Amino acid sequence: MSPSSATPSNTLPSTAAGKGPVEKALAKLGLVRDIDLALHLPLRYEDETRISKLRDAREGDTLQIEAVVTHCEVSFRPRRQLVVTVDDGTDTCTLRFFNFYPSQQKALAVGCRIRARGEVKGGFLGWTMLHPAFRSASGELPKSLTPIYPTVAGLAQPTLRKAVLAGLAQADLSDTFSPGDLRQINPQALWTLRDALLFLHHPKPDVALATLADQSHPAWQRLKAEELLAQQISQLRSRRLRAHLRAPVLRLAVVEEVDLATDSTDPVLLPLYEGLLAKLPFALTAAQLRVVEEIARDMARLVPMHRLLQGDVGAGKTVVAALAATICIDAGWQCALMAPTEILAEQHFRKLIGWLEPLGVTTAWLTGNQKAKERRDMLAMIESGEAQLVVGTHAVIQEKVHFKNLALAIIDEQHRFGVAQRLALRSKLRHEGMEPHLLMMTATPIPRTLAMSYYADLDVSTIDELPPGRTPVVTKLVNEARRSEVVERIRQQIALGRQVYWVCPLIEESEALDLTNATQTHTELAAALADVCDSIGAPAQVGLLHSRMASEEKKAVMAEFVQGRMAVLVSTTVIEVGVDVPNASLMVIEHAERFGLSQLHQLRGRVGRGAAASACVLLYSTGDGGRLGETARERLKAMVETSDGFEIARRDLEIRGPGEFLGARQSGEAMLRFADLGVDTALLDWARREAHVLLDHHPLLAEKHVARWLGGKSEFLKA
Ligand code: ADP
Ligand code: MG
Repeated sequence: MSPSSATPSNTLPSTAAGKGPVEKALAKLGLVRDIDLALHLPLRYEDETRISKLRDAREGDTLQIEAVVTHCEVSFRPRRQLVVTVDDGTDTCTLRFFNFYPSQQKALAVGCRIRARGEVKGGFLGWTMLHPAFRSASGELPKSLTPIYPTVAGLAQPTLRKAVLAGLAQADLSDTFSPGDLRQINPQALWTLRDALLFLHHPKPDVALATLADQSHPAWQRLKAEELLAQQISQLRSRRLRAHLRAPVLRLAVVEEVDLATDSTDPVLLPLYEGLLAKLPFALTAAQLRVVEEIARDMARLVPMHRLLQGDVGAGKTVVAALAATICIDAGWQCALMAPTEILAEQHFRKLIGWLEPLGVTTAWLTGNQKAKERRDMLAMIESGEAQLVVGTHAVIQEKVHFKNLALAIIDEQHRFGVAQRLALRSKLRHEGMEPHLLMMTATPIPRTLAMSYYADLDVSTIDELPPGRTPVVTKLVNEARRSEVVERIRQQIALGRQVYWVCPLIEESEALDLTNATQTHTELAAALADVCDSIGAPAQVGLLHSRMASEEKKAVMAEFVQGRMAVLVSTTVIEVGVDVPNASLMVIEHAERFGLSQLHQLRGRVGRGAAASACVLLYSTGDGGRLGETARERLKAMVETSDGFEIARRDLEIRGPGEFLGARQSGEAMLRFADLGVDTALLDWARREAHVLLDHHPLLAEKHVARWLGGKSEFLKA
């Protein structure tokens, strides 16, 4: 959120020296204005309103007890831990802490009276609680449930709670639409924004918790309606603006009738589009044909296309992009294709020149790591118009790049780009009031019908069918302890002439550690596989790829792997997107528990691209605790149970819950925090209609609504 979007009166107080640590942490969560805080809703609640007696406890209950510490010691067996015994007058309970600070130890000294809250487990030695939340037993019990907010490291719940309370008290919470407007959705949902927010932050203990958990409570309905409405107004507004823009009309060139009468021996020059179709080694799927038609229809209009092409990994989006490019080039205009990483851009470049150069197309290549001379040449080709197609990374949108006549801009893996970058690409056609047609591609799908209503500002094409002949990838969960068996499996694959990816984990905030880890694994695998010969008869090559390598080096390694001269590619997550090596049949992901679900799905999509049976091994490690965390388990389970990208996306949202929209928000993705497209379809329909009403009849309220919900983010939704 840009600082300029917040007026002094609605920012948090900040010190003269700049932002304090609390403000910084809040800003990380996107909480800058009072209203942001008011709209930061709890993930869940804890019931601290009552005290239970240990006497009444049952195995597995989560409860709060009030008790006196009778014993406290640091024990070292089986590992260092703080062991505390408490007595509530009806029974005793042992509290165990594996991580603890001296201050906590002090607060748990013998004689202290505390309230502890956690899950009780029975056992041979009586009740125990593992890592309970606790506080000293002073003061009254709270009257409402205690909210637990999504937070970041360094921002404790009590601090965040205080900030939210202040935000709630100061923010303008007046309604932008009347509660009655929601009557058609749900006759009970007649809550004002203020009531809904006050309630959701501090519900009374008698609320049916299930209605909060599944967000069916009328207060939640109001919030979701609000959120969807903001998203719809914002998109509708930009769609209306775009309708006034103009774009070059790019009509599909048709094959001229061959005049048999003249008996000419001149070769018939096919338009590029026909030429490419004829040259492809495969037939397009019905879904590909349909989306190509949708795109062609848009490009023939004089309003800029604004289309999202979605399709699961491996669905074949690249060839669709290539066909769109040929239509543009046939019409005498330039086309640009931008990809988020150099490896991916390079791969597109190779594939596209493979297809298009023989047809006479001149292609330029742009990246940040080019030699000065090469770069100058490329820039000149682009400016003169000699380059009909330009492929590259972010380098494509740099100021120095002047297109002669850019008419079609294609963005691959569009969710990896920020809004500013999308806008920059759109501004590359330097004609008054004109913009190029824009085609965005993504493998993060939402169901087609939903996508069409959700993206009010985008037209959506969906490739909902994989090319024929793919064998599903078998996914296996393997404990890190059985790593050697996995290496054995790799030997087998190499002996069969297949190739293998080994992906090393992301170690948060430490690229250096990532690197050590990947290097180690590489050395280890190279040694373990030194005696295996691959199909060429040479010792199997094991390569290493990581983000710190110079781009030339990366290219060289990637080329070896693509051309089949390298059996195993060990890499950090740089291969995450789009790489296409059909002979690769095994994907090993180390520390799979550290990856996000959609990331795992993307990685798995690198195999199963040929006809051979492929597998994905998710190596997981349980760490010290001896078991996987809840969400990690859910993610890995989802990976084993389904390979359908739509289902993965749905589960991902479900697992991440409303708390984890931040990454997406930062990358500019217009994501919903509260509404769930799978569930709230009626609300979405309502919001779509209401957006028209508000924009047409109450433009000021519409403005206020969008500013409140999207703040500085609303520009994101335009791009
Ligand atoms: P993605 O949609 O993930 O970008 P790609 O465009 O990389 O997928 O395509 C994956 C692979 O499928 C490529 O090797 C591509 O050449 C191939 N492919 C695309 N369309 C078809 C088709 N209709 N039939 C067979 N193979 C296809
Ligand atoms: Mg792709």
